[in-house]
Formats: sequence, structure tokens, C-alpha cells
Amino acid sequence: MSGQHNTSINAKCTSVAAVFGNPIAQSKSPIIQQHFAKQFGIQLKYTKQLGSLDSFEDQLSVFLAQDNAVGVNITMPFKERAFEWVDDYTDQALRAGAVNTLIRKPNSTRFIGANTDGDGLVADLLFHSVALINKSVLLIGAGGAAKGALPAIVNAGVSAVSIFNRTTVRAEELAEQTNSYSSCPISVFVDNSAEFDIIINATSLSLQNELPSVPTSIFKKTSIAYDMVYLDHQTSFLKFAEQAGASVTIDGLGMLVEQAAVSFRYWFNKRPDTAFIRKMLRSN
Ligand code: NDP
Repeated sequence: MSGQHNTSINAKCTSVAAVFGNPIAQSKSPIIQQHFAKQFGIQLKYTKQLGSLDSFEDQLSVFLAQDNAVGVNITMPFKERAFEWVDDYTDQALRAGAVNTLIRKPNSTRFIGANTDGDGLVADLLFHSVALINKSVLLIGAGGAAKGALPAIVNAGVSAVSIFNRTTVRAEELAEQTNSYSSCPISVFVDNSAEFDIIINATSLSLQNELPSVPTSIFKKTSIAYDMVYLDHQTSFLKFAEQAGASVTIDGLGMLVEQAAVSFRYWFNKRPDTAFIRKMLRSN
């Protein structure tokens, strides 16, 4: 399946949805989704569900057996397991091999898996007026977040993508797989003298205040640095990028909001406004 999905919703009925993850207490998804629902007068009960490492699939089946369940979001560490669970995929989910959104098929008990991380990232870059057309991109990381982001990055018209990863073979595999459908070239980062327009950190290293082992020479005066991690202070990667000369630094809070907006659109066929919730989360 590609494109947005129409779901017929009776506005008088309360719809249910949830985010499954482990851990899950920190999730901001309920606040974001309830805010979106309010914009359209949709009754939505959106909860956090602590996924069990032993019985996640059973939990998912029970939750989604509810007649009024429109779908769920999936976060770490269940995105690949959810991919195995669903019946059908969006193109991006198929390419990523992981899903973060399940959507009920119309008048059915079956579900489609989507991956909205990449569209969320691109929407956030556009929100910050970062043009992607003909830009060179360095993607740091080859895990689930990098895999989810890459299909949308190459669709956005960039000129080339280089991938850097601690474990080089994973970068090679991701480059090879992406080259099988991408019209722009994807390579593994090897040239220490190369500079990039946009540098995206898709690792969790900033959560430990650590840095990927990339040289400072990748940044030029016009480079834009993006860290998928967001904290209540500047992340270690964005600090590093700024000191190395990047002109703009952006953390992943906007990506979180925008990927949620794409999920909401899949469920309710309505495009929520994201400006207010961005400001609200930033000020908390
Ligand atoms: P992982 O932690 O599995 O990260 C995998 C990547 O990070 C791999 O490329 C891995 O390299 C690399 N990595 C991990 N530890 C180290 C280390 N010590 N040194 C060097 N490289 C390391 O997570 P995900 O890919 O699922 O997510 C990455 C981050 O993105 C998470 O923090 C997540 O919260 C965030 N994220 C944010 C979103 C948002 O909306 N803002 C959406 C999705 C994700 P290797 O292959 O060598 O192991």
C-alpha cells in the first residue's frame, strides 16, 4: 500500500489507540495524539502500553481486537516484531523492514504496517526551512532509526547519501539494499575529506553524552546538523557539530511530533496542525 489510508470514523464513538514500547513511561505520544484529536473533535483514548518482551504479539492482538481500535504506534524495541505481525505494508515500511504505526484496514480485522519516521524527519527538516533537493547527506547509524529514515530521505530529492556506522558491514548492507530502489547513489562513508550539506545522527549516542567517531571535517559553514535524539539541553552531537562549524543544529523533538502527525493522518485522514504542540513540548 502506498499513500494515505482512508478510515471511516464515527466522531460520536470513542476510538482507541496506544503506543507499545519497553520502556514506555517516558513516551510523549499520548499528549501529542490527544492534542491532535482535540483539533478535530475526535474522541480518542490513547494509552501507553508496556510491551512484554515475551508476549508482545499476544498483547497487540488483544488490544487490536477491540472494535474501536484504529491502530497503534510501536516504539523500541518492537518495530521489527510488529513488522512480522502485520498483514500488509506501506512501501516505506517494506523498505525499512520495521513499522512504527499499525492501521486498521477498512471494515476489516486486519492491519497495515507503516513507518512514519522518515516522513516525520523530512517534514521537520522542511519545517526548519531545510531544502533537501540536490543536497548531499551523511547518515550516521544503520539501525532501525536510520532504516526508517532512509526511504523518505532518498524520496526527497537529495543528490547522494553516504552512510557512516560503527559496524561497517551494516552500513554496507543498508547502502546495497537502498541502492536497489533509490535513484540517488548511496555509499558507505570512506573519504575523511568529504563535506556534507546535511548530517543526520540516527544513533542513540547522545543519550549517553557520547559522539560517533566522525571527523570534524565533515561539517562546512553551511552544513545542517540533525540529531534524532532530543533532550532538555543541547545534545552532545549538536554541540560537537556547532563547534565544528555547522550553521544550523536541530534536535529530534520536531521529528517526534511530525511522525505522530503522519500516523494520525493514516488513522483519521485528517492533517493536524503541529505548531502548538511543538511549542508546548519545547517549553515543558
Ligand atoms: P539503536 O540504539 O539501536 O541505534 C542503532 C545505531 O546506533 C546503530 O547504527 C549502532 O551501531 C549505533 N550505535 C549504538 N551504540 C553505539 C556506540 N556506542 N558507538 C557507536 N555507534 C553506536 O537505536 P535506533 O536506531 O532504533 O534509534 C536511534 C535513536 O534515534 C534512538 O535514540 C531513538 O530514540 C531515536 N529516534 C528518534 C525518533 C524521533 O522521532 N525523534 C524516531 C526514531 C528513533 P552498530 O550497528 O555498530 O551497533
